[in-house]
Amino acid sequence: MSDETERRRPNILVTGTPGVGKTVTAALVAERLGLRHINVGEIIKEHKCYDGHDEELDTHILDEDKLLDLMEALIQKCAVDNVGIVADYHSCELFPERWFDLILVLRTNTDVLFDRLTERGYNDKKRSENLEAEIMQVVLDEAHESYDVDIVQELPSNTKEEMEGNVDRCRMWAEQWVKDNA
Ligand code: ADP
Repeated sequence: MSDETERRRPNILVTGTPGVGKTVTAALVAERLGLRHINVGEIIKEHKCYDGHDEELDTHILDEDKLLDLMEALIQKCAVDNVGIVADYHSCELFPERWFDLILVLRTNTDVLFDRLTERGYNDKKRSENLEAEIMQVVLDEAHESYDVDIVQELPSNTKEEMEGNVDRCRMWAEQWVKDNA
């Protein structure tokens, strides 16, 4: 976003290991707080933000420049329309720091995440890699390294009640942000 458009609504990023509940939480936050939900994984697929294929990992290689250009345009438009965004993605270091005012890192216990990833149809290797990443708090460390620690919030996401609590906290935080930035 260029500096000319000063935002009056907050931008939130929901991040964490696959399966922790980023997409469902972000959708709920968007609905309750009147923010625009940006599902980054969907944008990547929809616009084919790929820069080749990694044969060993059997995944597409992300075209970061293309993704960031698309997101920049979306975020800029939302700022002009005076709408905040809530984006969700399993990584956070690639985004410019200035885009976000709050980074929510969702965390899930190993047994719960095991069941969610099994239900999602992940094979043993992919499931183990993701469980290990969650145990090693890879995304939380990434968030702490990439953003001001004051805006990074680690939240539990094992149950529906915890999800509701997280959305509520987010709502209270956003209301305060709007007051502080009026
Ligand atoms: P992510 O976007 O992090 O990969 P999803 O939002 O797709 O995860 O959620 C994965 C699955 O886990 C979905 O079936 C979702 O309903 C469920 N889920 C996520 N968070 C919770 C939670 N806090 N409580 C109960 N179920 C959850």
